[in-house]
Amino acid sequence: MALIVQKYGGTSVGDAERIKRVAGRIVAAADAGAQVCVVVSAMGRTTDELTDLAGQISPAPHGRELDMLLTAGERISMALLTMAINELGHEAISFTGSQAGIVTDTSHGKARIVDVRARRVLEALGAGRIVIVAGFQGVSTDFDVTTLGRGGSDTTAVALAAALGADACEIYTDVEGVFTADPRIVPDARKLHAVSYEEMLELSATGAKVLMLRSVEYARNYGVLTHVRSSFTTGDGTWVRAEDERMEQAIISAVAHDTSEAKVTIVGVPDTPGVASSVFRPLADSEINIDMIVQNSSADGRTDISFTLPKDDLRRAGPILDAISDRVGASGVETDSSIGKISLVGAGMKTHPGVAADMFDALADAGINIEIISTSSIRISCVVRASEVERAVRTVHQKFDLAQEAVVREEHPLTATGQIRALRPDAAGSESRGTQ
Ligand code: ASP
Ligand code: MG
Repeated sequence: MALIVQKYGGTSVGDAERIKRVAGRIVAAADAGAQVCVVVSAMGRTTDELTDLAGQISPAPHGRELDMLLTAGERISMALLTMAINELGHEAISFTGSQAGIVTDTSHGKARIVDVRARRVLEALGAGRIVIVAGFQGVSTDFDVTTLGRGGSDTTAVALAAALGADACEIYTDVEGVFTADPRIVPDARKLHAVSYEEMLELSATGAKVLMLRSVEYARNYGVLTHVRSSFTTGDGTWVRAEDERMEQAIISAVAHDTSEAKVTIVGVPDTPGVASSVFRPLADSEINIDMIVQNSSADGRTDISFTLPKDDLRRAGPILDAISDRVGASGVETDSSIGKISLVGAGMKTHPGVAADMFDALADAGINIEIISTSSIRISCVVRASEVERAVRTVHQKFDLAQEAVVREEHPLTATGQIRALRPDAAGSESRGTQ
């Protein structure tokens, strides 16, 4: 008997009508013969509203109490959804994260799952029930309620799927899947049929919001087959899975963008051994996540060090940066919040030279200045002015023809390795895979 984990996001359970509709969908999966474990987010903007409410009481509430408050959001949706399923004549039971055996470390607000003790969930499934679990939460090794960070229900779902040995983890959301770019910016962006775990990790890390980064790490580490799809339509979404299982093998998969970071430059740093460590150690110790570091050496023995960090951390980083600047004898610190980052991601980059040059050509032709570049083996990221980000995304999407399904690997039963076949753009529409 198939066992599936389904996760429904906040928009999908935004009001009573939507909860009833989701209940219908869950019941349909159960009627089709599957054991179903469902993870649910808080309704609509509940988590934001609860956070605002806390802010009206205290500017810096204790993490423990904030977690106690925020976990209430998922408790509401899990109970209502269970009632809706019961109303349809099926037996369902809800569990908080703690009751479902989600054990985390003690880091309030961004706890990591350390164990999933799924016995109660398994027993309930075994008894023929549909199990509804509150996402985004767990119980710490100190027995306190914790939350997993914003978007954490994705991680709850993938972790449960791994622990239960589920056949698949379906992430139901308000978009149809993972797109070649944000469709609000690029109208002809195409829904991807599949991406590898590695590509999805890069996309989630560089601004794609559809899956929480940690859930993708979890999926990769445990090999959880993940299907991101819309709760409002019945079509196939995007499969996130191991690279060698993929049918579709384009060189480039997608362009992501992110305007949530700021750029910091420490100006006139003496160019001597140990300086980079003196700059970055204090930031690391304060758990400030640094990205995209560049250092330019100059003729007069001084250098500028630039890097990016989340805008949200800028206020906290301010005094630390000033202290660093004094300690290393730099001439000052400049911060710039008007930047954006665009990232081109594709597993085929590893074996195809010239991708970076093509990306830089496209930006040059559009007159867009690149301020910082960083790469991994399957990603190229550029910092540009925030005001240019949308144009940069469209330019790069167009340059790499991402609206077209360019190259498809055929998994032909007679050829062990599969063949790579280039499709003419007008032939792409005749493929049954990749529905756009
Ligand atoms: N309700 C939480 C949030 O809004 C968790 C989630 O939806 O995944 O971030
Ligand atoms: Mg989400």
